[in-house]
Amino acid sequence: MQRLKNYIDGELIEPTNKKYLDLYNPSNGQIYALVPDSDANDVEKAYQAAQNAFGGWASTSITERSLILSRIADLIEVSLDRLGKAESIDNGKPLTLAKSVDIPRSASNFRFFAQAITQFSSEAHEMTDAINYTLRQPLGVVGTISPWNLPLYLFTWKIAPALAAGNTVVAKPSEVTPMTAYLLSSICIEAGLPKGVLNIIHGDGLKVGAEITKHPNIKAISFTGSTRVGKEIAKVAAPMFKKISLEMGGKNPNLIFADCNYDKMLDTTVRSSFSNQGQICLCGSRIYVEASIYDKFKRDFVEKVKALKVGPPDKTDTNIGAIVSKPHYEKVLSYIKLAKEEGGTILSGGEAIYPKGHEEGWYISPTIIGGLSSDCRTNQEEIFGPVVTIMPFDTEEEALVMANGTDYGLSCTLWTENISRANRLAKSIHSGIVWINTWMLRDLRTPFGGVKNSGVGREGGFEALRFFTETKNICIQY
Ligand code: NAD
Repeated sequence: MQRLKNYIDGELIEPTNKKYLDLYNPSNGQIYALVPDSDANDVEKAYQAAQNAFGGWASTSITERSLILSRIADLIEVSLDRLGKAESIDNGKPLTLAKSVDIPRSASNFRFFAQAITQFSSEAHEMTDAINYTLRQPLGVVGTISPWNLPLYLFTWKIAPALAAGNTVVAKPSEVTPMTAYLLSSICIEAGLPKGVLNIIHGDGLKVGAEITKHPNIKAISFTGSTRVGKEIAKVAAPMFKKISLEMGGKNPNLIFADCNYDKMLDTTVRSSFSNQGQICLCGSRIYVEASIYDKFKRDFVEKVKALKVGPPDKTDTNIGAIVSKPHYEKVLSYIKLAKEEGGTILSGGEAIYPKGHEEGWYISPTIIGGLSSDCRTNQEEIFGPVVTIMPFDTEEEALVMANGTDYGLSCTLWTENISRANRLAKSIHSGIVWINTWMLRDLRTPFGGVKNSGVGREGGFEALRFFTETKNICIQY
């Protein structure tokens, strides 16, 4: 069976303790590879390598750094088939999605920050007899910790700006989906990334993630994952005065008004509900619909969702693949049970599916639930699966109160052709991102992140480069 390796100081090596965790293929529930069960010793080795590499990398010219990151982007693009297949097997997502979104976006992350760093600048503040200028210097060795839902996409979203800004990195991918990060190690070697600049340590969150977080000399932690783990990281990192960026859970509302472009709204709402089996932090899971079109929407939405094909991720006609892991599959099913106990009506789906030849895999039909109140647990807690609720509203004010009525605040989607209402609501919604008449339309220059329990700090564009640098003011009197 294939054994993945850590990437430390430019080499692929076994974990010091020689221990491994099982890696599952969600499409059939089988173990198909082994991933290092690394511990503090490996994190320390990675830190030492990153620390030794820091001086050299930080003083590399921006042109040189940009060139190496662009080469990594090129090699990811060339490896589209191999990486796409690996991502789909590891995560359970449809191969078509991995090849059209995850892998191209991972290449774009490197290409974008390879270019962004060439445009990054800082300010000068002039006084009558002096001038101040601001330096933005790399932090040193930084830690990145990422989740399983968009494995390579979110892994590279952190690494690319950290490296572009001149830091060296100790990176931890999710132990549930480590394969593409492992394959990226070889790509970095081939691209000529100097040894020690990026180190990838595989393993359990409590061992590797927690060790990176509490390491006294790792200067910043950029984390994407659950709110529960984000809290743990903040608890450890805050008293150490580390810089932290936390991208966490969501319970995003969609507000659909009767005056929307109905057909566009309907197609997009199917995508925003069930893409990647609903396992995208930006998926809209609470759908509020103006009462006058509620029945029509319910009928049309249910019809479209029932037509989605649940099946093995490698089949080209599969719309909904497998859920990433058995524990997560059980969690999602438990929320469907809870929704019924809370008085919800299952309008579509609501059950496990056993595709022929893949009976041991973890499949759940796309599920729509009606008849729930806004404040029940199903509508308050993050499910992070192919489950959405639909609820009617009468007025804009009522819709706003319900949309803002959770502890989360990552994104929101508004559907209306009334420009005044759209802007009025966009200003009042408690979230870091608002889409009007679209969903998941991303410009990598824009700030990305959440408010309330969804996040602290912003990623994307110069926000990410600012996070991964320390500012210093220098004042010169004439
Ligand atoms: P998770 O929090 O369980 O794990 C995320 C990462 O943290 C993994 O690499 C894990 O090994 C590591 N980890 C676990 N315990 C740790 C600890 N004590 N210290 C340090 N690291 C630790 O999240 P997940 O289940 O992998 O991902 C799903 C979650 O991610 C959902 O809540 C989803 O909303 C969120 N998410 C958020 C965004 C965003 O941009 N806001 C994007 C994608 C996913």
